[in-house]
Amino acid sequence: MRNFKNVHHYIFGRDSIQELENVLKEKYQNDNSFSVYLIDIFFKDKDLTKKLPIKQKSDIVVYVDSKDEPHADYINTLVKEIKVQSKRILPAAVIGIGGGTTMDIAKCLSILLTNPGKAEDYQGWDLVKNPAIYKIAIPTISGTGSEVTRTAVLTSKIQKLGINSDYSIYDQIILDPNLMKTVPKDQFVYTAMDCYIHCVESLRGNIIDELSQAFAEKSLELVRDTLLGETNPEKLMVASYFGGLAVANSNVGICHPLSYGLSLVLGYHHGIANCIAFNQLDEYYTKEVKEFRKILKKFDVSLPRYITKRVSQDKIDKMISATLRNEKPLCNAFGENWRDIFTAEKVKQILLRM
Ligand code: NAD
Ligand code: ZN
Repeated sequence: MRNFKNVHHYIFGRDSIQELENVLKEKYQNDNSFSVYLIDIFFKDKDLTKKLPIKQKSDIVVYVDSKDEPHADYINTLVKEIKVQSKRILPAAVIGIGGGTTMDIAKCLSILLTNPGKAEDYQGWDLVKNPAIYKIAIPTISGTGSEVTRTAVLTSKIQKLGINSDYSIYDQIILDPNLMKTVPKDQFVYTAMDCYIHCVESLRGNIIDELSQAFAEKSLELVRDTLLGETNPEKLMVASYFGGLAVANSNVGICHPLSYGLSLVLGYHHGIANCIAFNQLDEYYTKEVKEFRKILKKFDVSLPRYITKRVSQDKIDKMISATLRNEKPLCNAFGENWRDIFTAEKVKQILLRM
């Protein structure tokens, strides 16, 4: 049986970002203690950044261009740069402020500052040997559940696969719903749908237990409330947190493997890639896909169409193999004999409909 680890500390509530200073004070040993801030580039020169307790002389601030999802090459370069800037002294904290992209990059950095080698060496399950640097997540958009999961999703040359480890889990999270005010409508839906899909895939999977079911059901209720009823960032933050817990303790299903293929080969971001894939899964998640189309209509958000129409056979093949590499999710969705049911031909048919 697995011995589950969770985020140690959390602060939840409007304006809770102001607590960051106190959290760091407790962590700092002396005046030389410093942090590395990874901040989504949207917040460069914005009020939020100005209010952070950044020590101008010693803290290191990196603005993350979340136009690209985390890539192993980027992480390896970042780790080198931070080591140079910090003169190889370890920071007291790594702080990720942004969405899943920034939070996952902060996870990778905290691991690679204390573990030798390259980011891609740790893609897989429980490959990290040394404890990571203490880390804090402050999500500014909600749905991925990255703030609570034991994975840092990472793309390398050949695969999109997370660093799955207890050392990927944040030590502290600060959930401040006010930070979501500026999220554009389309992105809000894509990322919130990530949470919706985590719950659906988790609930429909074979390895769900009572604990994960409780998290997934409550998360789905909250995300549905906010996507179909009155938009409520507080509810979405809690939904994302519970959705992350649900999926971390069970698994995803059919949509995520297809979505990983779309991201890896065609470069679509996780949220929108999930939506594109989910929209073609009526056969498996009938009621939920219908509900999803209602959500798109309500928010007046449209999805790109015919995205595989002019794509070469070679790329289609790459997407098929990237999808079928996800044994655990597909086994969760279809059972042990998933290969007989979800064949390469079946994947191809779905991809060609997108
Ligand atoms: P994101 O971090 O990629 O950000 C999407 C866009 O939203 C960016 O343009 C960013 O600048 C903008 N943004 C973020 N906060 C904003 C704000 N408050 N106001 C205005 N704009 C804002 O989006 P995401 O969907 O949260 O994260 C996707 C990433 O998360 C993918 O890389 C995916 O693989 C990863 N992911 C990780 C896990 C996990 O458990 N670790 C789970 C699911 C997805
Ligand atoms: Zn996801």
